[in-house]
Amino acid sequence: MKSVFKVFHKGLKKTAVSFSRKLEGAFAGTKAWNDETYDLLEAALIGSDFGLSVSIRILDNIKERYEHGGIKTGADIITVAKEEIVSILNKNPKPFNLADKELTVIMLVGVNGCGKTTTAGKLAHLLCNEGKKVMLAACDTFRAAAVEQLNLWGEKTNSYVVSAKHGADPSAVAFDAVQAAKSRNYDYLIIDTAGRQHTKKGLMDELAKMNRSISKVYPGAPQEAWLVVDGSVGANALAQAREFSKCGNLNGLVCTKLDGTGKGGMVVAIKDEFNLPVKFVGLGEQSDDLQLFNPDMFADALFEELDRD
Ligand code: GDP
Ligand code: MG
Repeated sequence: MKSVFKVFHKGLKKTAVSFSRKLEGAFAGTKAWNDETYDLLEAALIGSDFGLSVSIRILDNIKERYEHGGIKTGADIITVAKEEIVSILNKNPKPFNLADKELTVIMLVGVNGCGKTTTAGKLAHLLCNEGKKVMLAACDTFRAAAVEQLNLWGEKTNSYVVSAKHGADPSAVAFDAVQAAKSRNYDYLIIDTAGRQHTKKGLMDELAKMNRSISKVYPGAPQEAWLVVDGSVGANALAQAREFSKCGNLNGLVCTKLDGTGKGGMVVAIKDEFNLPVKFVGLGEQSDDLQLFNPDMFADALFEELDRD
């Protein structure tokens, strides 16, 4: 079995390496920590996109413990930072439940290019491997290529794809898909949506309408509505997430492209701001590069490259 820690370690390597470079030598040896040391740590945290609020909290915690003699080495810094991060990530946990007997509808929302369609495909792959019956709904009818892309994932994962012609009403596609998935006893229906610019009010209205259509056929659905965020765009992603959070019923977060970035810390910043549970992280473009989120392993992997002297 592939070790889950290795998956996080490999996927977060860029963040871990860039973080450790920024801190190189700062806490080494026996010299007393001073403002310069703390500035370096603050810059390293902010530079890895933990966000100002989380970075300052970690820093204050470390300063206070140092001044009271509670900590004194570089390794202690890692311990304190990890504790803080894990505690943020563990707030309001809502682990993904694979045991549901009823049809679970998962809707993925987020800006163009954040990785919704790829996540839908990877999620289908993961669920099919668990022996689940999975249907995909191509509700990004705005871009013709999006339906094609989802069809390819359908073929790859052997999942049924519900789609309609380019420009069709996404709510109607969602409605049909839920009806089909219910009547044919599917375990999961994954709804891929369009991600035109979040500044266009039309998209938010469209998502709200889609929600209403879904719950009309299946009250209580979508049970899962996840915001997909591109982890490689750093702090910018927070502004996008803020807009999409107006969409109302979001209850989870997927952070993609963490493999290609040194900004993995933003998972913590987004979690801290929105308090949305992180469900999965995307650590690559292949079918099995979607990883069920694990706060402890995530935090361990983030600091893996630091010297512990
Ligand atoms: P959408 O517009 O939100 O549906 O985004 P797509 O799913 O089409 O993804 C946009 C691009 O990002 C594609 O080239 C994907 O292969 C790539 N991508 C998605 N998720 C990941 C990930 O976790 N890691 C990497 N490296 N690339 C990803
Ligand atoms: Mg797409």
